[in-house]
Amino acid sequence: MSIIAEKIKQVVSQINDYCNQNKRDSSSVTLLAVSKTRNADEIREAFQAGLHCFGENYLQEAQTKMEALIDLPIEWHFIGPLQSNKTRQVAESFAWVHSVDRLKIAKRLSEQRPEHLPPLNICLQVNIDDEHSKSGCRPEDALSLAKEIALLPNLALRGLMAIPSPTEDIQQQHQAFKAVATLADQLNQQGLSLDTLSMGMSSDLSAAIAEGSTLVRVGTALFGPRAPKP
Ligand SMILES: *Cc1c(COP(=O)(O)O)cnc(C)c1O
Repeated sequence: MSIIAEKIKQVVSQINDYCNQNKRDSSSVTLLAVSKTRNADEIREAFQAGLHCFGENYLQEAQTKMEALIDLPIEWHFIGPLQSNKTRQVAESFAWVHSVDRLKIAKRLSEQRPEHLPPLNICLQVNIDDEHSKSGCRPEDALSLAKEIALLPNLALRGLMAIPSPTEDIQQQHQAFKAVATLADQLNQQGLSLDTLSMGMSSDLSAAIAEGSTLVRVGTALFGPRAPKP
């Protein structure tokens, strides 16, 4: 078995264990393979080992790989910061965007989503606890933003995404993820119908699944450590 296939097996079995520990069905958690900095061959290998959803952070880098992998039915997720001048290409080539935190970006994605494609799946990114991060809307703005995004015709608002500030303190990990889950519950009580909590990465999978994550975004645990950005 290849190294990537071996790692995939380990991560899948971890996810299954965490689901069992929390009395959750393992089919309720999707494994999104975060493939930033990884080349097309590595993604192909991961696909052949059973993964079908891949997450990319940078448009140009993603486009090169998408072209090389056009023969595979991969579901592509955009998870990185998104500027207005990139929305058209993202709307044209991705199935999901996890990093929407402004109405302006959502409106552009809806307008630019090609007619022949199904609605673009959207997660509203919430800045749950990281005062140093500029990404994500404020939790107190999530309801009004979500209501407006839900009205846009070519988008399907699916849920919330969060990247809590990194910590090894397990209690703190739980706290942040619980806050995201509670916020999603509140939004649903206000008439939204969110079915996705995009939360949990290589180092905090266990807490995320315990608090209700339905989609974990995993890079390092699948592909090994990334080279630092030059
Ligand atoms: C890089 C990245 C991940 C994956 O992080 P790992 O720690 O490598 O698992 C998940 N989500 C987002 C938004 C990322 O940018």
